[in-house]
Amino acid sequence: MVQDLTLYREDFDLGHSDLAPPWEACVIPWTMDMDPGIEEYKIFTDGSKWNEQVGSGAICYDSNGQEEWSFSLRLSNNASVFIAEAIAILESIKRILHINRICSIFTDSRSVLMALASYCDQTSIIEEIKLILKDKRNIVLCWVKAHVGISGNEIADSLAKEATRRETIDINIKFSKRWLKNHFQRVIKERWQQRWEFSLKARYTYDLMPQVSTKRCFGDFYINQFLTGHGVFPVYQMRFFGKNDICHCGRDQGTITHYLYGCPTFNQIRQGYFPSNFVNLGLLELISLPKVRVGLRLMGQFLLQKCLD
Ligand SMILES: [Zn+2]
Repeated sequence: MVQDLTLYREDFDLGHSDLAPPWEACVIPWTMDMDPGIEEYKIFTDGSKWNEQVGSGAICYDSNGQEEWSFSLRLSNNASVFIAEAIAILESIKRILHINRICSIFTDSRSVLMALASYCDQTSIIEEIKLILKDKRNIVLCWVKAHVGISGNEIADSLAKEATRRETIDINIKFSKRWLKNHFQRVIKERWQQRWEFSLKARYTYDLMPQVSTKRCFGDFYINQFLTGHGVFPVYQMRFFGKNDICHCGRDQGTITHYLYGCPTFNQIRQGYFPSNFVNLGLLELISLPKVRVGLRLMGQFLLQKCLD
């Protein structure tokens, strides 16, 4: 169940595309070179998500390979791994702002590097990194392959994982547009599912399709009558218009089951369009077969004519 949240305008990171004129937009280059120059500092950064909890970690080595500092910060749960990777870089940059020699920041997140190298509107964290690095040419961003045993990267990875297990949140992340969109989609779907489960209407269709889905769409006039039980069937005609509910063949009530599996009027259609094992198949399985759908439309047309006679 999606939790109820009360959020305000200031809780959201909606980007700043309306503030920065295009000529002020900048991009930050990055390299795949593991050793881009004579570094004073080598910093490895990483982000991680575990059990819905998110963390950022980084470790900094001096030119002698000695650890200078490290951090392990837990972010609020709404942060994505992308944000966690970006925060690891941003927090590292803040710690080396005063240093004027070359510093290399290593990350295994290509998506963050590509966001920094893009002119497109980004989250405010990416924009903040861009703004700082624009004038700090001594800070070099490098891509490093993850999980290939590079010790600095492995340590940053464990620091980020360790952060996800911390009890308290160190940095509250604003809600992104993407998070908001996903959240609304989840809420809408949950409410739709609840309405579908507790409604007193359309229980025949509910038994066929108890789970709501945005990926399913039936738009055929005749097939939809089989899926809803509404329309041409005598049992429906009796419920709504008080007509006789017995099939024109006189053998049974005019139900969907009767027409699919029993009514002798449609023996030829069943032979021509249904698979030989049709008695073992449910309505949805039958409808999934294109040839059966043709047969069902013919049945629907015939029954409609009977209704109008
Ligand atoms: Zn019949």
